[in-house]
Amino acid sequence: MNITKSLYVAFTQCPALVWNNLFNPLPDDGNKSRAIEGERVGAFARDYFDNWEMYDFYNPQTRPGVYAEYIFEYKDMECRVDMLVINNDKTVDIYEVKSVNDADKDKFLEDISFQYYVVSNAVKNMGLTVKTANLMHFNRDYVYDGKKYDLKQLFMVSDMTNQVIERLPIVEDKINALRNLDPNTCPRCPFTGNCKDQHNLCRYLDRCKAMYGLTKEHSAFELYGNANKMKLIEDGLLTWGQIYSYRKAELSDFNKTMIECYLNNVQSPVVKKDELVEYLSKIKYPIYFFDFEGVQETIPVYPNSRPYEQIPFQYSLHISESIDDTEEDIMKRHKEFLGNGVDDHREDLIKQMIQDLGDTGSIIAYHASYETKRIKELIQDFPQYKKQLEPLLNRFVDLEEPFHYHPEHHFFNKKGERMEKPKGKALTLVYQSPMSSCSIKDVGPALSPDRTDLDYHNLEQVHHGTEAVDAYKQLKSLTGDERDKLIKNMLKYCCLDTKSMVVVYLKLLKLIS
Ligand code: SF4
Repeated sequence: MNITKSLYVAFTQCPALVWNNLFNPLPDDGNKSRAIEGERVGAFARDYFDNWEMYDFYNPQTRPGVYAEYIFEYKDMECRVDMLVINNDKTVDIYEVKSVNDADKDKFLEDISFQYYVVSNAVKNMGLTVKTANLMHFNRDYVYDGKKYDLKQLFMVSDMTNQVIERLPIVEDKINALRNLDPNTCPRCPFTGNCKDQHNLCRYLDRCKAMYGLTKEHSAFELYGNANKMKLIEDGLLTWGQIYSYRKAELSDFNKTMIECYLNNVQSPVVKKDELVEYLSKIKYPIYFFDFEGVQETIPVYPNSRPYEQIPFQYSLHISESIDDTEEDIMKRHKEFLGNGVDDHREDLIKQMIQDLGDTGSIIAYHASYETKRIKELIQDFPQYKKQLEPLLNRFVDLEEPFHYHPEHHFFNKKGERMEKPKGKALTLVYQSPMSSCSIKDVGPALSPDRTDLDYHNLEQVHHGTEAVDAYKQLKSLTGDERDKLIKNMLKYCCLDTKSMVVVYLKLLKLIS
């Protein structure tokens, strides 16, 4: 087996994933755009160093200098160092470039530890020793001025040598464990965030669930937001029925209601009416149902923007003027904005948004903190619009609030010890089976199961935020019919977000009437 850095890091995250990939693989769609972005940032970062040269595989350099993509081999291991500095005193410095900001740097301790282990052993034959192991990452406070990038400011270097040296015994153990994987037996691994992220399930999930005796649906795994699911599984509580019988008191309101609806086959919404009336009384007409889509640029592209700043590139807006409005009336009052994918569109967006959102009435957004954060960033980048933008912030009402729940992981501290449930805010005011999360993409169809027009699966090309961002990035390279089609589908996607909000809001009004 050839042990590369990515194989090693994958093993540290989940040995079962590596076992399946090696001995019983399923096709992988992979996240190609993330890999391409990583390569782009790696190449960009080289000019942080003066007089760097490319590593020559056929004639490896050992003289003092700065080398990009230096490859080392040691026993059955191989790693490629993004930037390697060979100093005059026969020491070397390793630099791993990652497209992250400084807050995320500890995530890469495994990568750098593996590199240090391989390089420090490989360079012994060359009469060299490793002096430092560093992570190069973005400085999130850097503000691009629209001219030449100041790479010494854009990137930061974190010396991780001490943490890496402390970790070396663990690295050796893990490498040995990887070598000793039994081709006939897949290891049992705990379910973690690697099994399910926002939009994707691990392709081996059904196999792993079967190993624990879990059913495909309504098992401990599907207990949404329950970070304690492994404890339930270890205790033999595999089905929702078992969990409800033995752990009812520990369940969040959301999970308890969800299980009760499933066990009792409840088809109608479960509503906390008084709290819902109170929530709805905060909303003032005219109502603006508003949704942003934003793209996060790792290397800032527009003047007055920062690494990883979310740049809103699109919005959809539906307007309801009075409580007597029907859905049809509201659908007719639709406004939207979409940048062209090439120019800095932010000032046009601000001007149109100020005009479209008027001076009075509630602005309803779903998970409104996303929209308010973007507006605060626009104020920071375009202070000349502060007077018009700032009053918008107080008008926001979050439509997610009635469906919200306390995720179970809030009840555990970092050591995994149970904490008291947070008090205060009334949550899960409305639950409708089979709503499996409080995302608008689940809530809309759950509350109106007969409405196929609310099903995001029926859209073309763009079905969720990540695809909207990919589509926006493609716009600049498309022309003609292909570009027109993509634009049409981007607009349809964002429009469905605000249309779903309108349908959900009207449904809430019905529930209290
Ligand atoms: S489902 Fe989870 S435990 Fe199983 S292979 Fe995937 S990441 Fe690992």
